Parts: sequence; C-alpha cells; structure tokens
Amino acid sequence: MVIAGFVKNSLVDFPGCISSVLFLPGCNFNCFYCHNRQLLQDNYENIDTQTIFDFLQKRKGMIDGVVISGGEPTLHEDLLTFIKQIKNIGYKVKLDTNGSSPDIIKQILQEEICDYYAVDYKAPKDKYKDICGKNANADDTLKTISVLIKSGVDFEVRTTVFPHLTKEDLMNMATELPLLPRYVLNRYKKPALYMPQDKTLIEHHPYTQKELTKLAESIRAIQPNVTT
Ligand code: SF4
Repeated sequence: MVIAGFVKNSLVDFPGCISSVLFLPGCNFNCFYCHNRQLLQDNYENIDTQTIFDFLQKRKGMIDGVVISGGEPTLHEDLLTFIKQIKNIGYKVKLDTNGSSPDIIKQILQEEICDYYAVDYKAPKDKYKDICGKNANADDTLKTISVLIKSGVDFEVRTTVFPHLTKEDLMNMATELPLLPRYVLNRYKKPALYMPQDKTLIEHHPYTQKELTKLAESIRAIQPNVTT
C-alpha cells in the first residue's frame, strides 16, 4: 500500500476513539477547496508500510483505531488486504470516502472489516461536477449511502459548507439524502494549496460558527441528526 501521510495521534477523526490517521494518495475528484491537494499530485511522501505496522504494534492499548483517509482510499486495489492487516493487529478501522465506489464499499461490508465510515456529500446533485470535477457523480455517493444504511453499520455523512453553498443548496442536499444517522456540517477553511484558476473562489469568507449552526437548524426538520 502506498501511504502518503501519517498522523500518529488524533482525538477528532474517529468518533469515540483515539486514532492514527493514514492518508492514501490519488483522487478521482478535484474539489476546489481540497485540503490534501498534495495527495492529488505526484510529489507526495511514500511512507514504508512496515514502519506503520511496527508503530501500530507498539501502540496497542494506547490507540483504539486507525482512520484510512485520502485522497480517495477506494481507488487502491489493495485496500481490502490493507484493512485486514490493520484489523489483524487489533485495531478498529474507520474509512473516509467521497462515496464514488459503492461496489468497493459493498465488498468491505461483506468482509465486515470496517467499523465506521465517513462519506462526503459535497453539493446539490446539479452542482456536483462544478464543485468536484468532471468525474464526480452525486448518484454514486447516494448509492454508497444507501448501501451503508441497508447494512446497519455505523456511519456519518459530512458536508464542508464552503462560502458559495447557500441555504437553498443545503435544503436541496438535505432532501436528496435519505434520513441519516449522523450528518456533520463542517466549516470551510481556506486551503494552503489550490489551483491558480480557483484563487477568487477560495478567497471568499467562510461562514462563522454561528451562521453554520443557523444553517444546520434550517435543515433539522429534514435531517434531525444534523450537527456542526
Ligand atoms: S474528494 Fe476529498 S481528497 Fe478528493 S479532491 Fe475532493 S476534497 Fe480532495
């Protein structure tokens, strides 16, 4: 497995767990606000997998889980094998995904090797390609979410509320989504690395926490489990 980034300890990436976070390179989307743009390019670090396994062996009892993030992890052919290796050491696993590979998620669910999933739903259906690039398709993500609901596994859906996402957009998204067990609205932060053509887009002021909370309240009737 190619591992392009590694955070040893996190209290915020895996609900209820102290976790390590692994970042896998490459993504089939191209969101203008991507915070891991270096993973979309070819100059990322390549961390030796055995180094990670050795670290996880040593930290048993101090860390509860491992988050596999990206980039888009489901693009890696050896993802299932890699998750099994981490489970065999004795860790819970959380997978972060843009939801573009419902068939891979089905395989992971069949193997029962992942304990928690976080799926990004990024924009209203009709704006998905504008925000995430030509390969993005909201229907794939909605299919992934539907597969997760049917399985009964623990998961959350997340939306980064970038400044151009309006209350109407969020209402549309809340309606397009099925009833979710947990829907997290995250604040937009300006990325350090971005495409030159997106300079104007990324400079917009983010919503304040107060405004974000108000937006969450506006969709609570449709998605009662929304949080910020
Ligand atoms: S899906 Fe995630 S990793 Fe991929 S471009 Fe969008 S924000 Fe970046």
